Amino acid sequence: MIRIDSVTKRYPDGTVAVDRLSLDIPDRAITVLVGPSGCGKTTTLRMINRMVEPSEGGILLDGKDIRQQPVNTLRRSMGYVIQNAGLFQHRTILDNIATVPRLLGRPKQQARARAAELMERVGLDTALAKRYPYQLSGGQQQRVGVARALAADPPVLLMDEPFSAVDPVVRKGLQDELLRIQSELGKTIVFVTHDIDEAIKLGTMVAVLRTGGRLAQFAPPAELLSA
Ligand code: ADP
Ligand code: ADP
Repeated sequence: MIRIDSVTKRYPDGTVAVDRLSLDIPDRAITVLVGPSGCGKTTTLRMINRMVEPSEGGILLDGKDIRQQPVNTLRRSMGYVIQNAGLFQHRTILDNIATVPRLLGRPKQQARARAAELMERVGLDTALAKRYPYQLSGGQQQRVGVARALAADPPVLLMDEPFSAVDPVVRKGLQDELLRIQSELGKTIVFVTHDIDEAIKLGTMVAVLRTGGRLAQFAPPAELLSA
């Protein structure tokens, strides 16, 4: 379990992005952080993999402060997916995904086999393996981003508005795919969105943040009070 324990983040210019936030993020479920632009969702997500350090409070992973392990070890246990996928533009789709197992020391053939397997898992035709990112649609690129995040088989996936840039029909397909992947692989997913419908569809638990970085509600979708 990831425990966010009374965390405040104050940026150097004085902006309080997150204000005394406490959340227990359950294992093997999707926890959605939702709220208006600027309410501290991305900051919260980035504190979980230490791209941002809290000003006060702490974050525990399975009971241990995340600062007690090397940051690279922590990040290897957490896949990270962002809007527009952040793919390497000069590498093929297969190489974009195979890069991760290669970095983990896998031989080339094994890494490629793993990448091909992941393409299928996220619903990408392996005929796309030799293409470059610009030759794929936005929705296909996001699938590559998800496959790459899964490549190290991390227990945790951090997802920052991964589907916001694609059209509504494709987005629905990606959401269904994510629900399927989550139930098949049992990943712990923290998912950021500003779209309450997306939060309700995907969330096992939904954390509603409000401007100023404070928690308004934390509940399963069916128990959210309309605000
Ligand atoms: P969200 O993801 O909900 O849009 P963010 O976490 O990106 O919110 O930002 C929360 C608040 O912190 C906003 O007011 C934003 O302008 C501010 N902020 C984000 N990053 C920085 C930064 N590096 N320096 C100063 N302020 C920042
Ligand atoms: P561990 O016992 O730590 O899981 P492994 O050698 O099985 O050790 O895996 C090391 C890392 O490589 C893990 O993140 C794992 O998910 C990933 N991995 C497992 N199988 C493959 C594979 N065939 N190709 C690439 N990466 C893999």
